[in-house]
Amino acid sequence: MAKIQAIRGMNDILPQETPVWQYLEQTVQNVLSAYGYAEIRMPVVEQTNLFKRSIGEVTDIVEKEMYTFEDRNAESLTLRPEGTAGCVRAAEEHGLLFNQMQRLWYRGPMFRYEKPQKGRYRQFHQIGVETFGMAAADIDAEVILLSARLWQTLGLLDSVTLQLNSLGSNEARAAYKEALVTYLAQYREQLDKDSQRRLESNPLRILDSKDENTQAILQDAPVLADYLDEESRAHFAELTAILDQAGVEYEINPRLVRGLDYYCKTVFEWVTDKLGAQGTVCAGGRYDGLVKQLGGKPTPAVGFAMGVERLVLLLETLRCVPEALRQPFDVYLAAESKGFQSEVVLLAEQLRNDLPGLRIRIHCGGLKNISQKAKQTGAPVVVLIKGSAENNLSATLWHRDEPVFDVALDTLAGKIAEISQHNA
Ligand code: ATP
Ligand code: MG
Repeated sequence: MAKIQAIRGMNDILPQETPVWQYLEQTVQNVLSAYGYAEIRMPVVEQTNLFKRSIGEVTDIVEKEMYTFEDRNAESLTLRPEGTAGCVRAAEEHGLLFNQMQRLWYRGPMFRYEKPQKGRYRQFHQIGVETFGMAAADIDAEVILLSARLWQTLGLLDSVTLQLNSLGSNEARAAYKEALVTYLAQYREQLDKDSQRRLESNPLRILDSKDENTQAILQDAPVLADYLDEESRAHFAELTAILDQAGVEYEINPRLVRGLDYYCKTVFEWVTDKLGAQGTVCAGGRYDGLVKQLGGKPTPAVGFAMGVERLVLLLETLRCVPEALRQPFDVYLAAESKGFQSEVVLLAEQLRNDLPGLRIRIHCGGLKNISQKAKQTGAPVVVLIKGSAENNLSATLWHRDEPVFDVALDTLAGKIAEISQHNA
């Protein structure tokens, strides 16, 4: 019988990779907590209508990427393709939005039926940030500064570029859409198939097209910036002023529109040229219209989502991961000869009491060539327990293959703390 394999585009994250994931996740969590953000956890399955209504019927996601199925009750459900819709649904459902300000974040798997390739998978992970109830540009600036601080902390700041644009108000976008359609209609036959269709249904999305011909035609198309309303202009100016003062560099990209329908005013992406075609590692913007669109009171909102796989790839590519993280334990503890295995288990328990936070792995199984085996684990500290004729235990200690110490058990914890510079 053929062995069952994982589903195409859905990856196992193996033990040698998880340290990088944990490092990234922990760093994000530290940065977010420095800005006072609170975590929210939503289900991975929602009613299909939630995504249709929020993301928009005429988007790649809803048209062809969703994992949608009927449950046993014939209700249409969808594996979440992104986190914003579910976050708004949850926040609204539990009364977190009305007359309040919220700074939330979430993480977890998302599902899109795409063609799997490097940096693009069918199950992938995002860490997302959503803020609610704040209308001015200071919060737009905060979420961007927060992401910049994260790249700085991870050593990635020199490898990513911030692209920025404003989509303006709904009215401004409507006026622009008209001008864009008038322009593009002249070239209808030369546009790619999706773009031809979108000329009627969702012309702004054409700016997002990855087709070269379409992009060439777009070179001379009208630009959104010329249609911006006064308020959006002022909002954008305030945002860029804060970024300038904070020393965060950006490029204004007039063609940046983002794939989802619910954005307005600020949109941004952090892009790298180190990963090939899948270069966007973080994307977001303002979506003041979404809460109302989903049945709530009008609520200003700004957020972004980063692609964890792409960031892990970037950290690996640029060798930005501290090497020590890959070693899952600090101390390897074994018996030197038979008959002391239970002492080893108990001694390890005692050491974990004495040295909280120190990572100790004990040796189980055969003891042949034990000192060699123990050193080969790569642990910075190796401890072998041995018994004397009187059955008194003592220990032999290696520190990165440096001279051997023989120590009495009552001084073992102190000695380990000293050589591994462990401050619990
Ligand atoms: P793209 O243009 O690359 O398809 P998108 O606009 O569909 O991106 P968003 O919906 O904005 O992506 O998602 C935010 C981030 O999540 C992306 O910038 C990317 O880093 C990551 N991401 C999106 N889709 C995938 C995927 N299929 N596999 C891996 N990461 C993804
Ligand atoms: Mg996409």
